[in-house]
Amino acid sequence: MQLIHTIEQMQSLTKELKPGSTIGFVPTMGYLHCGHLSLVRSANAECDITVVSIFVNPAQFGANEDLDKYPRDLERDLALLSECRVDYVFFPTVDMMYPSGYQSYITVKGISDLYCGASRPGHFQGVTTVVAKLVNIVNPTLMYMGEKDYQQIVVLETMLRDLNFTTRIIRCPIVREADGLAMSSRNKYLNADQRNQALCLSQALQLARKQASQTTLEINQIREQMTELIHQAQGRIDYIAFVDRDTLQSVQIATTKTQVLLAVYIGATRLIDNMPLY
Ligand code: AMP
Repeated sequence: MQLIHTIEQMQSLTKELKPGSTIGFVPTMGYLHCGHLSLVRSANAECDITVVSIFVNPAQFGANEDLDKYPRDLERDLALLSECRVDYVFFPTVDMMYPSGYQSYITVKGISDLYCGASRPGHFQGVTTVVAKLVNIVNPTLMYMGEKDYQQIVVLETMLRDLNFTTRIIRCPIVREADGLAMSSRNKYLNADQRNQALCLSQALQLARKQASQTTLEINQIREQMTELIHQAQGRIDYIAFVDRDTLQSVQIATTKTQVLLAVYIGATRLIDNMPLY
């Protein structure tokens, strides 16, 4: 496993590879957990070379968000990655990625303003910008991303298609704790009581799936039941959205293409999760 500190080093390494070699890339913000490692294992199994980046991207955090306290532990991350046969770990600094005078940003219009984008203005512009930069630096064939960030995947697939990047995204399933909580670096913010309350996200999604398959309830009625379950756990709902899984447009009638997305505050911590309705 080779550690790469500079953009120039990373760019020349991937350009020098044997023609036809496939590069699997896993972009992360570090503080790795089994969800991240599942993406690394998939990249490893399917590509010749695996590259992981660790970069807490300031451009995707709002002014009042958790950029400063976002958990970081590079030593621990490298120890975990060294057990996964990773070829290169790229960890640039903020100054390298956004040097003084930096002015260029990419926006995917429309879907970037919905759901997570509505509560976090500018968030997806930060995500699309950093991923476009990382794709130009790492030159991956395939990029492995988790469905945990469902809207992020759809926004990035749109950007890659619209801007004629040849890199493709491989969607990887959400990895959960044994009790159903979706793994997330932000789960570290939760105290013991909140960790328990946080189960309401996956439980509300399971409730929606059960009601959709076993009853004739309409989406609004299912949403009411989810709301009640989350309020009982003292969660504060940011949004619950029933959407078309490809376009992310909200739907009134449930079909096999419906995905349920939600964001809920547990204390001050905002958590997201999603599941297909059927
Ligand atoms: P992050 O470090 O939070 O930016 O996430 C880096 C990548 O890991 C993104 O593609 C996420 O969707 C993915 N990821 C985060 N949590 C999980 C999880 N619980 N299961 C699967 N993928 C995940």
